Amino acid sequence: MRTLFKKATALILSIAVAAMPLAAFAASKVHAAEEIIVVIDPGHGGSNLGTDYLPIPEKTYTMAVALVMKEELEKYENVQVFLTHTDDIDMSLKERAEFATSVNADFLFSLHFNMSLSHALYGSEIWVPSTGQLYSQGFSVANEFLIQFEEMGLFNRGIKTRIGSNGKSDYYGIIRESALRNIPAVIVEHCHVDNIKDSSYIQSPEKLREFGIRDAEAVARYFGLVSKDGKTDYREYAPLAVPVPASRVYNDTTAPSFVSANLLNYDQTGKYATVELTALDEESLIQYYSYSYDNGLTWSALQPWAKGNPTMTVSINMGYGKKDSLIFKVYNLYDRSTESNVIKLN
Ligand SMILES: [Zn+2]
Repeated sequence: MRTLFKKATALILSIAVAAMPLAAFAASKVHAAEEIIVVIDPGHGGSNLGTDYLPIPEKTYTMAVALVMKEELEKYENVQVFLTHTDDIDMSLKERAEFATSVNADFLFSLHFNMSLSHALYGSEIWVPSTGQLYSQGFSVANEFLIQFEEMGLFNRGIKTRIGSNGKSDYYGIIRESALRNIPAVIVEHCHVDNIKDSSYIQSPEKLREFGIRDAEAVARYFGLVSKDGKTDYREYAPLAVPVPASRVYNDTTAPSFVSANLLNYDQTGKYATVELTALDEESLIQYYSYSYDNGLTWSALQPWAKGNPTMTVSINMGYGKKDSLIFKVYNLYDRSTESNVIKLN
């Protein structure tokens, strides 16, 4: 156990170190001395509804947020803002990237809202290009978006790449088509519309407005913009400096490699169990755990993992009545899961 723990710690640290040097590199920040051209892409449109789990389709949310984001960004000097479309129309991903090229865009931000088939996932995530300078720029700006969303109270599901099945290009069309034209593009998945933890964030126009304001703030910080009224000045703000990767940054396609559950205490009433969990994933990070005390028949809602830590101690309320066993699952950034050993309670 002790050896495994040490191994887990070392591996997690190596992941942390792999991510850390980013901050140590000199910022290659673009200051807005010249005009910055931003393209905002409201995801979906026309017959392409996007996520339609709720009565209001995703395309309605993305347009509402995009319009606020544009209005907010236009409060800054030296920035020109375009939307890929303002009418409710069908537009291919290639056409969106072509539009960005036509206006000589410095960056394209594709706005989206998420859902999961299980309805269990919650939080914000950003998809970025997988190669070169585009990756560095994407990762750096994605970090700004996630800082904003975490401030709103949303769970951070991370900054991710996804490679297509050919192994040679980005999976998501808007990122791939923009990369072909040498335009950095990121997909901003604000939150999950189908999970109770996130659904309150889209319940009113005021709430959606906050996303637009936060999106604009992230971009203003990244580009070091100064507001027209002179009240906000991000010229000295240093966004995360991300070194250009030597080769394509691949996504994690495997489940966490190790998880162990060690019972620390099970109280006399048979209600609470305290368990030390140790988990590791060499390629990404652990981000959720869940548990079952009916032999895997039903599982708890996903709980946030103490991100970056190999170990966490959790207290589980299993209700009254003796339970036979307790088992855990841990999930990585890509929602792949691994089950723990079974803790026998009798
Ligand atoms: Zn979408």
